[in-house]
Amino acid sequence: MHTTHDIKNLLDIQDPNITFSDACVEIKQDRGKVCKFISATLTYTPTHCAVCGMKNEHFSVIKNGTQTSRITLPLTGMHRTFLLLKKQRFFCKRCSCTFVARSSIVDRHCFISNQTKARVTMKATEAQSITLIAQDAMISVSSVQRFIQAYANEYLKPTNRLPENLSFDEFKYARGRMAFQYIDAQTGTILDILPSRFSCHIKNHFYTRYSYRERCSVKTITIDMNAGYEKLIQELFPKAKIIIDRFHLVQLISRSMNQLRIQVMNGFRRGHNEDQKKYRRLKRY
Ligand SMILES: [Zn+2]
Repeated sequence: MHTTHDIKNLLDIQDPNITFSDACVEIKQDRGKVCKFISATLTYTPTHCAVCGMKNEHFSVIKNGTQTSRITLPLTGMHRTFLLLKKQRFFCKRCSCTFVARSSIVDRHCFISNQTKARVTMKATEAQSITLIAQDAMISVSSVQRFIQAYANEYLKPTNRLPENLSFDEFKYARGRMAFQYIDAQTGTILDILPSRFSCHIKNHFYTRYSYRERCSVKTITIDMNAGYEKLIQELFPKAKIIIDRFHLVQLISRSMNQLRIQVMNGFRRGHNEDQKKYRRLKRY
């Protein structure tokens, strides 16, 4: 009992139906890497049959062997950690079907613990690459991507409403490809991200998700100096005014000034003493 209590505390497992016995931790090689295997048993008396839903009365559901699954846990110590969970199998006499005991620590047909998934979700809020998160959680990159997507689908339900003030932006991802995002300019909330910034994709997105009336309610759209967006906005948001982002304005002015400075400076480069002095001043200040 002490072992179960201690290991559960160590691994943050709350399911009361899981028990650990003494000497349940084993360190051995798996595909050339040292891994930690922790054996546990999952069993209980089911109240109902999981297949037909009939109540378990007069031993209508009986225990029928076990099935062991290897579940990835978050890292404990230095090595990859797996839980070898011996799950109870049950047989229902009424429907003659078998089913396996379920636990809150892992979803059905899944071999990655919910704790690992929670860890991935938490890591995803930090500025980290998916590859790094995958290394940290000891799972594949595609699994990380799948969990993040599932989480996003659950919590970021797409709406068909638009704020009055929008902002368009783009950013680089995955080997130089550009993604498009639109933001509520007032709150800074990202409303959605599209995997490409091609106008046909952007148009398609806004036409399918937002009604004409909703698009007409947008009053301003802040953009960088991308000429392509202007035409697009006139078509998609007939009532919206275009605002050039002041950051990009300042950036353009400072870049132009700098170019002019270099041009003037180079004119003095091969001159006499007085010109050389001017050249140095322009270069320095
Ligand atoms: Zn049944």
